[in-house]
Amino acid sequence: MNNYNTVLPQAFAEKMQRLLGSEYESFAASYENERQYGLRRNPLKGTEEEFSRAVPFPLRKISWAREGYYYDAESRPGRHVLHEAGAYYIQEPSAMAVAEALSPNPGERILDLCAAPGGKTTQIAGMMQGMGLLVSNEVMGERARVLSQNVERMGVSNCVVCCEKPECLSVRFPAFFDRVLVDAPCSGEGMFRKDEAARGEWSPETVAMCARRQALILEEAAKMVRPGGVLVYSTCTFSPEENEGTISAFLRTHEDYNIEETAFEGVFSPGRGDWVSAPAEGIEHTLRLWPHLIQGEGHYVARLRRRGQGTQELAAEKQKQKDKLHSLAEEKAVVESEVWKITGDKKLCKLTEGFLREELGISGAWMARHPGRIMKFGEQIYLVPEDMISLDGIKVLRPGLHLLTEKKNRFEPAHALAGALSWKDTEKHSALTEKEAAAYLRGESLGCGEEKGWTALFYEGYALGFGKASGGQMKNHYPKGLRISL
Ligand code: SAM
Repeated sequence: MNNYNTVLPQAFAEKMQRLLGSEYESFAASYENERQYGLRRNPLKGTEEEFSRAVPFPLRKISWAREGYYYDAESRPGRHVLHEAGAYYIQEPSAMAVAEALSPNPGERILDLCAAPGGKTTQIAGMMQGMGLLVSNEVMGERARVLSQNVERMGVSNCVVCCEKPECLSVRFPAFFDRVLVDAPCSGEGMFRKDEAARGEWSPETVAMCARRQALILEEAAKMVRPGGVLVYSTCTFSPEENEGTISAFLRTHEDYNIEETAFEGVFSPGRGDWVSAPAEGIEHTLRLWPHLIQGEGHYVARLRRRGQGTQELAAEKQKQKDKLHSLAEEKAVVESEVWKITGDKKLCKLTEGFLREELGISGAWMARHPGRIMKFGEQIYLVPEDMISLDGIKVLRPGLHLLTEKKNRFEPAHALAGALSWKDTEKHSALTEKEAAAYLRGESLGCGEEKGWTALFYEGYALGFGKASGGQMKNHYPKGLRISL
């Protein structure tokens, strides 16, 4: 046996040898090669040109992801001011194909059911351009917290982060979403090159357990897709039981779904109907990403469509649902401002808008781009996305964009709000040098000029957070939990 086989669990290697036949040698040899590193530009923050100007290390385009780039390991982009500023998200190149296959649009309602730590959620958010509703869910509490932090770092304004079991969400959101993503927990075989722990945890029993769990998750996910909507299922594993097997079993009991072609026909390899019994019709249109055939790790993606209404009926149905949601909103709800299409308690809307305009210098144009409902949870004031239904009874970590904190009859801007601003959105902004930006991220106060009051601080056009200027000093308001020495 060749050397590389020693790093793979033996039962796994034997199984892949059986499945791949003569192709196995080249598959196994790929474990000898260094893995590829990827990052994804954040289109919510600045243009491609601004990004290219700001990034100081070499990048190469990833052909299958609009915003994806390869970087060299020695560049260490995770240890850079721009990373903390949300200019990019570090993500494995193959993983970027999943959101592309989902192909979300601005204004839609999207659910990412297994979302932490947030690679695909933040990619979806970029494609939605801040318009519509993105519900990102993670069942594990600690992982949901990391998801929420990443959503904030990337400046996503229209995302609600929940921590719920799929069966709790499916009763609240029946046939509600235009697109649902199930990036399922799996045996992780596709990450063996990248992740030693995944190799150690693998066993044939894990594969079987994952397949059972995937079936349960898909069952709940399917209930939340509106007629005519899209359901994308993905894993980072090779086992047919968790891929073509899971999808074929699902389609046997869900006649209202069928497999749909993606834009990646011919780019990636076809799903393998010959590896499962009773493969679903069209299984060859599902996608396999192989580490010996592309510059990325192993992945599987299936895009399904729920049969249903044509576009006109759908638009009418959506409007009906929307009207119902709005009549369910609190009785005091009002359209508060001509510029900012917000609803909520009249006094709270007025105070919030006043603070944003006067104390933070935020423009009417920013407000016009961010419609929603102003809601107060304890001392915290949020902008809840327009289409979000009642949050009662759902475990929610982030009901929308955190705008303000009320402190003894005064307001402070929330850190998340800074992330959702570009320097053009506020006249109260200041540009930091790299040295100043690094000091700010460490939590240090900065010297400043004549300015007074709240100031949004930027590095190379990317927002880092707020400071408060007074007497030639810029007091640091970067959250203590995020402070970092780069
Ligand atoms: N989509 C994520 C990304 O791009 O960053 C990665 C998701 S990871 C492959 C799968 C996630 O599913 C894990 O965070 C895991 O905690 C979660 N999970 C585990 N069991 C689950 C269950 N029964 N229902 C829903 N999600 C589950």
